[in-house]
Amino acid sequence: MSAEVNSFAGKIALVTGASSGIGLTTAQLLAMRGASVVLAARREEDIAAHAEAIRAAGGKASHIRTDVADAGDVEAMVANTVETHGRLDIAVNNAGIGETVVPIVDMADADWDAVIDTNLRGNFLCLKHQARAMLAAGNGGAIVNVGSVNSFLGCAAFAHYCASKSAQIGLTSSASAELAPQSIRVNLVCPGIIDTPLHRRARTKFGDAAYDELIEHRIHLKRAGQPIEIARAIAFLASDEASFITGTTLTADGGFHLTL
Ligand code: NDP
Repeated sequence: MSAEVNSFAGKIALVTGASSGIGLTTAQLLAMRGASVVLAARREEDIAAHAEAIRAAGGKASHIRTDVADAGDVEAMVANTVETHGRLDIAVNNAGIGETVVPIVDMADADWDAVIDTNLRGNFLCLKHQARAMLAAGNGGAIVNVGSVNSFLGCAAFAHYCASKSAQIGLTSSASAELAPQSIRVNLVCPGIIDTPLHRRARTKFGDAAYDELIEHRIHLKRAGQPIEIARAIAFLASDEASFITGTTLTADGGFHLTL
């Protein structure tokens, strides 16, 4: 029996949105714990450099440029992972955007489409191709989607983002129901306010005062989270430690969604 908690030695893990923030930290953590990690995102120079840094630190990593909203890219991402590493054991569907802050009555259709295409359709496309690869290999697997505290909470001027994130709950539990018989677990991690480039851009748009008010009055721990605190939650659900957990959401938000 191994005493090492959450060891990923010998596992092949694919992380989308790995050029920045939560995805990058998750890729680094999984690699540090022994996984061979594939970093996927659109900014190829960034993921190439991050994969190189993981290898320089003694880990195993490769990268593939991917736009998760593009079906061909996603199919190629999974095919490349299987060709390069032989199979896929763990997938973290973390890529997401939340750049536009605009009321529904003023929202351009293109703004709606961009967020839904990346956050929801992108998650669906990734799940589909990852599940196909896992089913073909017949070894089971673990898929962790990344939602948000906005999977539960609406927010003025952020309807597209909240709609995309709440729909991931249904996508995750439905995928779990379909894939559990083949020992593929599917779960959703819902972060609260986490100090990443996405958060810093959103903070500028909603306003510093609004964010400080949120943190002071809504978050029990009275601070933003750090990417590593989400990466650890993702790693837990991806690990054998979570062997009886599937179809559910794990909220990591310092108590945000519990306070009126
Ligand atoms: P970042 O902006 O730091 O990172 C987002 C990542 O997603 C980048 O690596 C980006 O890479 C990638 N990405 C965006 N669009 C695409 C695309 N079309 N195809 C492939 N990759 C894409 O944000 P976070 O780390 O904060 O966000 C990660 C996830 O966590 C998101 O799903 C977000 O919604 C969620 N989240 C974050 C919260 C926070 O407060 N930070 C709170 C709740 C949820 P590239 O640009 O290179 O493609």
